[in-house]
Amino acid sequence: MSGQEFFDHGERVAVLTTQPLDRLLDYRAPEGGCFLGAFVEVPLGPRKVIGVVWGPGTGDFDSAKLRKVIRVLEVAPMRGEMRQFLGRVADYTLTPMPAMLRLATRAPGLSDPPSMRKILRRGSGEPDRMTDARRRVLEAMEEYGGLAFTTAELAEAAGVTSSVVKGLVKSGALREEDTPRDQPFPKLDPELPGKVLTEEQADVAGKLGAGVASGQYGTTLLKGVTGSGKTEVYLEAVAACLRKGRQALVLLPEIALTAEFLTRVERRFGARPAEWHSGVTMTERRRVWKMTGQGAAQLVVGARSSLFLPFRDLGLIIVDEEHDTSYKQEDGVLYNARDMAVLRAAMCSAQVILASATPSLESWANAEAGKYTRLNLVSRFGPAVLPEMSAIDMRAEKLASQTWISPALKSAIQTRMERKEQSLLFLNRRGYAPVTLCRACGQQVACDHCDTRMVEHRFLKRLMCHQCGETKPMPEACPSCGVEGKMAAVGPGIERLAEEATSLFPEARIAVLSSDLFGSARALKQRIEEIAAGEADIILGTQLVAKGHNFPQLTLVGVIDADLGLQGSDLRAAERTFQLMRQVAGRAGRAEKPGQAMLQTFQPEHPVIRAILSGDEESFWKVEASERQAAGVPPYGRMAGIILSGPDVAQVFDLGNALARNDGALRQIGAQLFGPAPAPIARVRGRHRVRLLVKAPKGVALQDAISRWLAPIRLKGDLRLSVDIDPQSFY
Ligand code: ADP
Ligand code: ZN
Repeated sequence: MSGQEFFDHGERVAVLTTQPLDRLLDYRAPEGGCFLGAFVEVPLGPRKVIGVVWGPGTGDFDSAKLRKVIRVLEVAPMRGEMRQFLGRVADYTLTPMPAMLRLATRAPGLSDPPSMRKILRRGSGEPDRMTDARRRVLEAMEEYGGLAFTTAELAEAAGVTSSVVKGLVKSGALREEDTPRDQPFPKLDPELPGKVLTEEQADVAGKLGAGVASGQYGTTLLKGVTGSGKTEVYLEAVAACLRKGRQALVLLPEIALTAEFLTRVERRFGARPAEWHSGVTMTERRRVWKMTGQGAAQLVVGARSSLFLPFRDLGLIIVDEEHDTSYKQEDGVLYNARDMAVLRAAMCSAQVILASATPSLESWANAEAGKYTRLNLVSRFGPAVLPEMSAIDMRAEKLASQTWISPALKSAIQTRMERKEQSLLFLNRRGYAPVTLCRACGQQVACDHCDTRMVEHRFLKRLMCHQCGETKPMPEACPSCGVEGKMAAVGPGIERLAEEATSLFPEARIAVLSSDLFGSARALKQRIEEIAAGEADIILGTQLVAKGHNFPQLTLVGVIDADLGLQGSDLRAAERTFQLMRQVAGRAGRAEKPGQAMLQTFQPEHPVIRAILSGDEESFWKVEASERQAAGVPPYGRMAGIILSGPDVAQVFDLGNALARNDGALRQIGAQLFGPAPAPIARVRGRHRVRLLVKAPKGVALQDAISRWLAPIRLKGDLRLSVDIDPQSFY
């Protein structure tokens, strides 16, 4: 990057736009000049587009035809550190820069002038006539002295109509003032008292705080069982960051969780932090984006894309539940927020805390290798102890056909019912039944656009494709042979399990927690609160319940099918099952009452099931690590997935074969290429999908080789190609 920081009127500048072009565009700096990094509006053909001044102009464009930057937007220029970060992420994920810029400017109205709103202040005049209502308005004004009220807000606070307020403005007792609509976030106070930490917690908090205070880069894996106080402890690291006057970012995997977390932040620091996720309104998004840039948002709590906010001085990034797969963006720019958080922190001398009860093997290995510091919280806070874990050997249990709750599990639930405690039954399958088939011809109902089976959702009274979301009514007659009344549900989904639980325990209050049963995050949150308050005896849940929710009365967790995750060929199947089972089991016994977790399994001797039961995590990781090392797969080798898709299957394969024939660039670095092969889901939304897999030794320049390999490719027609570096899913 050049050293030039300012461009005078008329000088050539190179501008990066969000338009899908493969190069920067040259313009002349506008009147008044512009800074490097300035957000600008530029003409492009007949349109006006937004861009960022990326450096001096390249000069290979006829200067007579050079057009001028239309105007500089009224937002802080993009900092050098952010420009470099976007460049590094682009290089790592092989993403074109315009797409990176789109990711970094996902706030509406950035090009609008700062919008203003009218607020009221006490004026110098006195009301011509004092009424009771007018007095209340003036009192409310005084009572909330520091707050800026609009007319409507003040009327509401005083309990009067807005015409009363307007009358006071007319008489001069109040006056109107313009202020920017995007308000800074209220100050957080790190000096408010936190909880009294246990010795173990205080020790860990002290070390994390010292890391933050050093003002240098460092990553810490904070490993602690659920309920050990990881959150409590990392909030102290946030406090240390605030004391230093730097900004902090907490990444959370799920929106439904943020409400509880925001309340905790407010209790600790006296005010709510900024929030950034898909559930936040557009105006609030713009406010968060601008205020992080001005340093007027000290703490942001958000989903993965908050990593691309324009922080002015980021000193700490916390990745909570760092093993969570939702940190990997599976659409558009394929990045892993956990890994990119480490990259960003290294570039701005910040600390990273990766918190989890069940870390990813990647992070565990990085800690083993000494790249990350590892800190452990081994005991649960207070009297809570880890649940006792046991297997129910399903080969020995007698179950009626089309039922899934074993007699052993049933009697454990019965005991909880008598003690007025809660039970949780876990089944990671949405809907009523995973398969619908015709008993006359044996045909299964499949999606018309994807190579998947349709899943019956009895609650919605429809069949649904979990791949593309397409639904259709439950057919009376078989779509394939036409015989009526022979359609049958096969296997259990969470809704069907609810039916079984109801017939076993007709007197029980049964709650089903599955993401598709709630219209909004708010409805879900409310239901969770009701359950926590004791308004259910048996809770049935999918993946949703594995995370963070605290049910104090819950003392039994029954896993309906512990083998479910082990069946795939995914290289992380064992790791994921281990994490999920431990997370779910961790829901039991959070308060004074000890918990129990029972796993229904047909293979109790499977090494992964045994590791889950024994809780011997270190040996599980060691075995898993040595197997991956032997196979040369992540984290001991590199991988990249290439996904090709198109409407015509032969064309997609032709492209795949052409890529396989010309893999010299890959062979040069000692990488192997597998495929082309049909993807496990070979058709989605009518497009045929073909995968290639690149496997390379660790430490080679993988991205560079892939770029050289793909450079000659020109995609014809409707063909698409995407590269997934460090793939997490292989569907
Ligand atoms: P984790 O993030 O590891 O699951 P939390 O930080 O959420 O654990 O702590 C679990 C529960 O115990 C929370 O309700 C928390 O407020 C409480 N807790 C943890 N440590 C303390 C402490 N030192 N004093 C009081 N309450 C604590
Ligand atoms: Zn489909």
